[in-house]
Amino acid sequence: MDINALLAGLPCTCGHPHTCDIQAVYVEPDAMAHLRELCSADRSILIVADENTYRVAGAQTERYLEGRTAARQIFPGSPLLVPNEDAIEAVEAKADGITKIIGIGSGVVQDLCKYVSFNRHIPYYIVATAPSMDGYASSGAAMITGGMKVTYSAHVPAAILADTEIIRNAPMEMIQAGYGDIIGKFSALNDWKLSSTVNGEYFCQQIYDLVYDTLQRTVPLAKALLARDEQSIRTLTEALILVGIAMAFVGTSRPASGSEHHFSHFFEITGILRSKPYLAHGIDVAYATVLTARIRQKILAARFPARCFHMERTEYEQEMHRVFGPIAQSCIDLQDKMGRYGQERAQTYLAHEEEIRAILAECPRPEEIEQILNSIGLSMDAFCSVYSPETLDQALHDAKDLKDRYTVLWMYYDLFGMEALEA
Ligand SMILES: [Zn+2]
Ligand SMILES: [Zn+2]
Repeated sequence: MDINALLAGLPCTCGHPHTCDIQAVYVEPDAMAHLRELCSADRSILIVADENTYRVAGAQTERYLEGRTAARQIFPGSPLLVPNEDAIEAVEAKADGITKIIGIGSGVVQDLCKYVSFNRHIPYYIVATAPSMDGYASSGAAMITGGMKVTYSAHVPAAILADTEIIRNAPMEMIQAGYGDIIGKFSALNDWKLSSTVNGEYFCQQIYDLVYDTLQRTVPLAKALLARDEQSIRTLTEALILVGIAMAFVGTSRPASGSEHHFSHFFEITGILRSKPYLAHGIDVAYATVLTARIRQKILAARFPARCFHMERTEYEQEMHRVFGPIAQSCIDLQDKMGRYGQERAQTYLAHEEEIRAILAECPRPEEIEQILNSIGLSMDAFCSVYSPETLDQALHDAKDLKDRYTVLWMYYDLFGMEALEA
């Protein structure tokens, strides 16, 4: 797949223009050498990194900037950087007079750069240090503001540079995470199709196929990725960037993020709220993909009811406060705005029953997903040792409340209410 050809845009009949403002993507040895020409007109560049990412790629990046660095914001290597108000402020404080921001790192550093770059109208480039998530090319900045995980629509980077020698040597956990983020597309794509049938939500078959093909190309790479095979690492990195471009093409993260991401956001948010550990984004997504596959199997085995489950308002509010504490009201407000709790979807499910069952059955079974995860060295036992059965149960019922998006989690609620998954 030639990513740079894709950047020119994709003709389509779906009615949504598939264009992307990224100008260049380089995934190759010494990719940063391109900075010399890309930054030739810049005089004041701001470098954003953390101690770890700066150590692996800082000197090499700056060598090609030839003295154009005007400021650096290097965050501590630990504890884990959180993309919250403090971190935003630290970057913004150094953005005056800057003509370009270069983020060196993966997830959080990039989200921060994306957010500040968009607000301050300063273009930004990405120097990728790990193939750990699919956000490099996306326009959404996943931030944690007011204690909530909020994806702000920002803009895409003007260029993405990934030195295969550097990303090949990223911590194995980050490679597993990137692979896991891609495996999550089985679930995300399925949710997209489901919502288009249930809610008439916008759907594009071409973008669906683009992401699905990328997913299929990535699945068999596990063994080679564990061996840090350069070509496979490159294919994974390109897959992650390509999925980001697919998101830019439709203007939302729909093709790449569904119920499995709601689980991962739930673990991250409640982990921060409760000072409990949580796993790397893509690894949570990978494990959650097994859970959402179980959900689909349970729905497939059930009869669609004539009337959906409905919770009493007071009971619902109590549940939100019990699970989300200080951010409960934000969740309640969001869901009041969406209005899904007040809707009765039983007739819709029954009217489209055959189609819905066919969609749900398209997603691989939980055992198949588990096998794929095992192939990259991830096991459900490790997952269950981090999250208690109670936390998993809460995520099953309440992760949907963090988000405005309809996924199979809503269908589970409609059919089974607060019932446990294994019941
Ligand atoms: Zn389209
Ligand atoms: Zn993701």
